[in-house]
Amino acid sequence: MKSAHLVPCPFYVGGEWLRPKLVGTPVYNPSTGDVIAECPVGGASEVNAAVEAAAAAFPAWRDTPAIERARLLFRYRHLVEENFDHLCSSISLEHGKTLVESRGSLYRGMENIEYACGAPTLLFGDTLENIARNVDCETTLQPLGVCVGITPFNFPAMVPLWMFPLAIACGNTFVLKPSEKVPLTAVLLAELIEKAGLPKGVLNVVHGGRECVEALITHPKVSAVSFVGSSPVARYIHETGTKSGKRVQANGGAKNYIVVMPDADLPRSVEALATAAFGCAGERCMAGSTALAVGGAADALVTQLVDAARSIKVGRTDTSMSQPDMGPLVTAEHRDRVRGLVESGEREGATLACDGRGTSVADAPNGFYLGATIVDNVRETMTLAREEVFGPVLNVMRMEDLGQAIETANRSSYGNGASIFTSSGAAAREFKHRVKAGMVGINVGVPATMAMFPFTGWGASFYGDLHIQGREAVQFYTQQKTTTTRWFGGTVGDVWRK
Ligand code: NAD
Repeated sequence: MKSAHLVPCPFYVGGEWLRPKLVGTPVYNPSTGDVIAECPVGGASEVNAAVEAAAAAFPAWRDTPAIERARLLFRYRHLVEENFDHLCSSISLEHGKTLVESRGSLYRGMENIEYACGAPTLLFGDTLENIARNVDCETTLQPLGVCVGITPFNFPAMVPLWMFPLAIACGNTFVLKPSEKVPLTAVLLAELIEKAGLPKGVLNVVHGGRECVEALITHPKVSAVSFVGSSPVARYIHETGTKSGKRVQANGGAKNYIVVMPDADLPRSVEALATAAFGCAGERCMAGSTALAVGGAADALVTQLVDAARSIKVGRTDTSMSQPDMGPLVTAEHRDRVRGLVESGEREGATLACDGRGTSVADAPNGFYLGATIVDNVRETMTLAREEVFGPVLNVMRMEDLGQAIETANRSSYGNGASIFTSSGAAAREFKHRVKAGMVGINVGVPATMAMFPFTGWGASFYGDLHIQGREAVQFYTQQKTTTTRWFGGTVGDVWRK
């Protein structure tokens, strides 16, 4: 059903808020199933206008001292904090996260603004005097030009904030293309940075789908592309972008394994596992989607996990009156896909230890709900074991020993995160050393890195060379220049000789 008042979803190009008359795709409130906005579908001409605006703004922004750029980001951080509740409501409204989850994700995003505020020191270069007699050498970090960010639906504020604050702190200008499923929070983020005093054209926002993305990643005036989304699209973006001469970092999907050893602290492991699997309704690239229960740990683990899953209250996240533990999935289509994967597991011989498919919410019969689901005795050959589910579904696979668990995790094509719960330092060390995943947790369920560390996915979870966040991202958004200098005529003599 369409709401009477649709939330506006403008483009932001060259400092102007534009509402071109384009066909739109529906943006839902997943809690109720209502259409709350229409996301305009931009194409090559809208992209061209945004990239041209970013290119025109680049020379002046590049020459703005880093400390002034940082000062602006400090103001931006302050404005995001002042508008924190409004932004969180917007995230919960268009995505379906609980308010607690929206707050957590916005804090993670703000930490990226805080990191970018360090631009004056992050952009230090190196100098070596006398690389040869009377010759000095220095490296300086210079911006690339116009950078582009293409973001997924599952973190409407955090993922855009992974990208544009640091890119502009480094002196680049930026075009953001948020997910067409959740474009509204990105618009609010742009409104706030405009309020902070960002010059026109330094940040631009365009909306659309495949056509819009294709125009962005092949535009001759774009220097670099940051992408976060599913693996097939990440791979396509990396291939197409690099072929067009762009620098590309593309984060993909994931399937993250959590090993539970027989010596693990069971109650704490269960608590962490339930949060890892069902937090944000499982719509996280770092969701702990498969428990590898080793030896004697399995039966007690499943029993306690089922108790934890049954206690999770599912409900509407679009009202601050009474918040649930878990909200809906982003669209009906996505919810049905997740349900279909659970059904495939059942058909292929797995056991449903906890079935969330019957979950409904009394005052929101059309919301996109699915309760916490646990599928036991999953085997590697099953579709459910191979495909990224991206919903509140925890697979349990039973393992004989740690070696088998590590081998199982390592056969996955993905490589985002992997965790172990154990009280043995030796087992933890072995796991950390051998597991093929870029972010490892030891007695930590979701080892997603904070702003100062790179988000180091491996395998099909990342295409590119320099990761998002931290020092690697500073390298990504800059190019190094080395200058070798010799001045003739220095005749002062050797002041060191007595
Ligand atoms: P998606 O790949 O469908 O979409 C991501 C972006 O790409 C969107 O802006 C979308 O408009 C665009 N897009 C979609 N299909 C396209 C196509 N064929 N050609 C060009 N552009 C296209 O991803 P999603 O469903 O929005 O997000 C969920 C996925 O993102 C999951 O796979 C999740 O694991 C992944 N993700 C990864 C990370 C990470 O850091 N590794 C973080 C968050 C989400």
